[in-house]
Amino acid sequence: MQYISTRGGGEPLSYCEALIEGLARDGGLAVPRTMPEVDAATLEGWRDLTYPELAAEVLGLFATDIPRDDLARMTADAYAAFPADVVPLRPIGDGITLVGLSEGPTLAFKDMAMQFLGQVLEYALERTGDVLNVLGATSGDTGSAAEHALRGKDRISVFMLSPLGRMSAFQRAQMFSLDDENIHNIAIDGVFDDCQNLVKRLAGDLEFKHAHRLGAVNSINLARITAQVVYYFWAWLRATDETGSAELSVTVPSGNFGNILSGFYAKQMGLPIRRLVLATNENNVLDEFFRTGVYRPRVAAETLATSSPSMDISKASNLERFIFELFERDASRVVSAWAELDAQGFFDAVPDQPRLSEEFGFASGTSTHADRLETIRSVHAASGDLIDPHTADGVKVAREHLEAGVPMLVLETAKPEKFAETIREALGIELQYPPEVRDMLDAPQHVTEMPDDADALRAFITASALS
Ligand SMILES: *Cc1c(COP(=O)(O)O)cnc(C)c1O
Repeated sequence: MQYISTRGGGEPLSYCEALIEGLARDGGLAVPRTMPEVDAATLEGWRDLTYPELAAEVLGLFATDIPRDDLARMTADAYAAFPADVVPLRPIGDGITLVGLSEGPTLAFKDMAMQFLGQVLEYALERTGDVLNVLGATSGDTGSAAEHALRGKDRISVFMLSPLGRMSAFQRAQMFSLDDENIHNIAIDGVFDDCQNLVKRLAGDLEFKHAHRLGAVNSINLARITAQVVYYFWAWLRATDETGSAELSVTVPSGNFGNILSGFYAKQMGLPIRRLVLATNENNVLDEFFRTGVYRPRVAAETLATSSPSMDISKASNLERFIFELFERDASRVVSAWAELDAQGFFDAVPDQPRLSEEFGFASGTSTHADRLETIRSVHAASGDLIDPHTADGVKVAREHLEAGVPMLVLETAKPEKFAETIREALGIELQYPPEVRDMLDAPQHVTEMPDDADALRAFITASALS
């Protein structure tokens, strides 16, 4: 399988090449040249596989440049840090089943893909004899998932910027308690956007970038997108086992359009998914796009800080991969849509809007803070289950799209323990942390504080980067 750019430029790349490359050379995103297909018999044959075995099958369709035995070893290692039931399903009533994607080390769904990325990135670097210094900015979840996946790797080091004093105590502890030599936590005296801008400045300085082998593991990373495809297959196999229904719908709490894009890929590959329901919080640019066909990203200053913070995104970096399919893989239409957006602040796919639902099966909805609290309460009252605010956004929107006889899955994107304040506000209870989490919260913290200054950051990276 080769990977081409959504903007039509550059040479096709292999999976491992695309993975190290990050953004395609023409500024587009790497997509499979043709979508792999899975027929009904193959799908049935996968019913008895364990999660890592299924992951090796599905990822093997994308990473054809990696021998199957190597892939199987990597998926086994990636999911060894999870409980035996890597992705448990639990019904919560009304025909809704939660898909537990948050059993990994940082209690959020990003571990599912990041743990595999850690394996495959080290593997790809070993092949070429290269090293990579990962430079990223985080407001909490992505940084911790990346650090837990990349800690202790020989060929990778991590420089993760976060806004000083602006993460929750839990998020700080998850990152700063790590004392691995290859993990560098840098707290910037500024807000998340300042961190992001520093990353852009250094990554945009091509000489510095190449000299210090800087790279990224952000949500456009191909390994992350493909690793996320796996759990749609897993959830479908488990849910159809239990309900006897061959078709189901899936609701996905969304921000950067990474998770639900993987669901869309699974559907394109032949997995019988009826509806893909996209749930947003108050930052609802994507809901607007799917309802109206107009995509109007907002600037950072218009992005609201909500109680489902990992979805506080107003510009969805992975949407370009979907637009490419919407425009029938015509890269020139992708390029002109972005030009339109640059010129007038939005692009208009209104004539294509009916296809979003009819051809691609998308539906969408928005949830608010009051909705999250009410949903956390009603799920708790009905089933005794505790759900986190992001999953609550999903359940709220899922309830608006239930169809008789069609089971609805909702992806659980984080554990409630990560967002204890909102649980307290909704239910008036204090969550009890398990002993390993209490140990983490009490552990000594490792972090370097730095002014919002690109030269200071350059000097720090120059002194500590792998070469
Ligand atoms: C990252 C994240 C999301 C959004 O996922 P995307 O792939 O960016 O759409 C939702 N919920 C949680 C808890 C997250 O960490």
